[in-house]
Amino acid sequence: MATAGSDNIMSRFLNRKYETLEPYTPGEQPKVLDLIKLNTNENPYGPSPEVLKVINEEEVGRLQLYSDPEAAELVEAIAENFGVSREQVAVGNGSDEILAFCFMAFQPENGKVYFPDPSYGFYKVYGDVFKADRHPVPLNGNLEIVPEDYKNLDGTIIIANPNAPTGIALETGVIEEIIKSNPDNLVIIDEAYVDFGAKSCVPFIDKYDNILVIQTFSKSRSLAGSRVGFALGNKELIADINRIKFSFNPYNLDRLAIRAAAAAMRDDAYFQMTRRQIMETREYTVREMEALGFEVLPSKANFIFARNSRIAGKDYFEGLREKNILVRYFGKKPIEDYVRITIGKREDMEALLSATKELLERQ
Ligand SMILES: *Cc1c(COP(=O)(O)O)cnc(C)c1O
Repeated sequence: MATAGSDNIMSRFLNRKYETLEPYTPGEQPKVLDLIKLNTNENPYGPSPEVLKVINEEEVGRLQLYSDPEAAELVEAIAENFGVSREQVAVGNGSDEILAFCFMAFQPENGKVYFPDPSYGFYKVYGDVFKADRHPVPLNGNLEIVPEDYKNLDGTIIIANPNAPTGIALETGVIEEIIKSNPDNLVIIDEAYVDFGAKSCVPFIDKYDNILVIQTFSKSRSLAGSRVGFALGNKELIADINRIKFSFNPYNLDRLAIRAAAAAMRDDAYFQMTRRQIMETREYTVREMEALGFEVLPSKANFIFARNSRIAGKDYFEGLREKNILVRYFGKKPIEDYVRITIGKREDMEALLSATKELLERQ
């Protein structure tokens, strides 16, 4: 698969500081559609029907006009949903862009940044792009974050809660202790998966001035293709992010994305129904996988992370691939035995389970 930047082609004009940069490796987005795609934690349910209503001919007919740089409709919908003020919300082109804005706004060059390892691959990549002094903090032997490792540090802290690719969540009380012990450090909590059963740290944004919460429309709101993410924090932090946004790309969200995300945020009933369905399907999948001898980490996300001593992670991944089921395999220590499986619809998981049984019987 040819991914931009994955080969080592460069011109003589490339800024030397990027010579050794290793780009993020996105999960595969295959062109063929007869695959069961459980590799990038997309939502198996489509966007809210309310999204289809606002993305209409009329809206497309306005695409000659620039989008609203304030994305007011969306900021308003988010503020309303969380019961915060509009000054406490910043929006970005995916939470990836919000994360990049955070590095630009808050990370001094050569300043330290701490994040769990393994975790979301972009923390490391952005650390490199923005020349931070990266400090990956290893998980313990059970692939858990050790809260004590994040107390009284001397740099920015980024924690995905639930963590990826493990799916394991920290209690918010534990995170609060981390925030309190780092009064002079910014603590960024990436809540990409929080809607699948963990508790949010959003209530802390009124209480502490050193916490930012980042969320996304890509997972629980079924809009990965729209690229919309947001940050919640006190109004000074949000103003800092917007200072960067307006100095970099004021029209970072397109007209359709703003309308789609606002409609999705307002449709709470659909959001509740689909996230509950995913959690139910997850519990079903965990039970069945355990019955097949898998060890499944306790997930509060829309994916599970599992291994089985009867089949190597790589063989399992490749065997599923031959059966047209795509999951994610990382192939690096300490997670080389595991595969990450997105929770799809019930029938997707039934297909996964029967393919899994066949692969195990072959061993
Ligand atoms: C998916 C994911 C994101 C990226 O979300 P986008 O809004 O699609 O950019 C951020 N953090 C974590 C941990 C994720 O898994």
